[in-house]
Amino acid sequence: MKHNLLMVLGPTEVERDILEVASNPQDYMRTEDYTRKWLRIFENLKYAFQTENPVVVFASSGTGSMEAAVTNVLSKGDKAIYINGGSFGKRWGDICLKHGVRTVEIPVEFGKSVEPEQVRTALEENPDTKAVFATLNETSSGALTGIKAIGGILKAYPDTLFVVDCVSGILADEFLPDSWGVDVAVSASQKAFALPPGLGFMSVSEKALKFAESADLRSFYFDIFDYVNNAKRGQTPFTPAVSLVNQLDKRLEKIRKEGLENFRARYRKNTDYLRAGLEKLGFKIIAENPANCTSAVYTTEYDASQIVSIMREKHGIEIAPSGGELKTHVFRIGNYGNIGEKEIKKCLKALEVTLKELR
Ligand code: PMP
Repeated sequence: MKHNLLMVLGPTEVERDILEVASNPQDYMRTEDYTRKWLRIFENLKYAFQTENPVVVFASSGTGSMEAAVTNVLSKGDKAIYINGGSFGKRWGDICLKHGVRTVEIPVEFGKSVEPEQVRTALEENPDTKAVFATLNETSSGALTGIKAIGGILKAYPDTLFVVDCVSGILADEFLPDSWGVDVAVSASQKAFALPPGLGFMSVSEKALKFAESADLRSFYFDIFDYVNNAKRGQTPFTPAVSLVNQLDKRLEKIRKEGLENFRARYRKNTDYLRAGLEKLGFKIIAENPANCTSAVYTTEYDASQIVSIMREKHGIEIAPSGGELKTHVFRIGNYGNIGEKEIKKCLKALEVTLKELR
């Protein structure tokens, strides 16, 4: 089957050595060997998340970990504030509503990052708020949220949790959950981790676990205590996605070896290179404070959805369209995973040819 170069926001291009791990025979997970593997993975995940808190692994996509975050710490009728700067911020609100959580939305203009003062005001107006939900990189616009500043405000609210979706932001942008006061952070395997989709991650603070004790939305499959208690003995409550977990083990080992700073800097260099090329072609990055690896641009000159199709059909490159009313105006390019200067050059060249064709 023909493979198109992936320059979307996940899944990503994955290096051959990691891909090959998935074709190894399956391991049985209830063994001492596999337990040792898990213990290594849990330690290395703490490094990736820059946290001392436990980080657990679900067989789910990122939305599964988002739902796990909501259901583990809240009860029906609780009140939550969520920052809505695009489809992923909105998803926090949708999950809360689905579970009968009362929501207070902080709407944020597309491409802008929330003003931390807006969060302070919302908290002052709603002192009974149980949790604030934010998104590190709002992947629909590529806007980076000032998590550190919001966490600083939340420090005055001991009865409120801070929950952050870092699905597309972790490993790409700085994220220091412990010192920034983040209680729960959720992510997934298919973005900066550059693994196949299918693993969800969640870190939980002591404070979040206290909330979980009385949360009546806690579900059977995502019960955080089952995961945290099993993780202590190097296990998971249910059958893990064995091949993906083996790939995660290798990925974390590679990240350790390269070092988080170097890993992020490599992504940053590629992002800068891509954005310089996009600017040369006349495109402006939408986000005021753009996240690493997510470049969303706005165009009125071209039909963005046509650009996406031509890139796919004539050049074998997948870039990401946008949904709804932005479909014809916004496209996004991701440089997560095994994308370097060579691939970015190829993408920019193809984009240049595409624009000529459309003119
Ligand atoms: N949050 C953010 C910020 C994302 O970018 C994504 C995936 N694009 C998700 C949540 C949802 O993840 P998934 O599609 O893996 O459920």
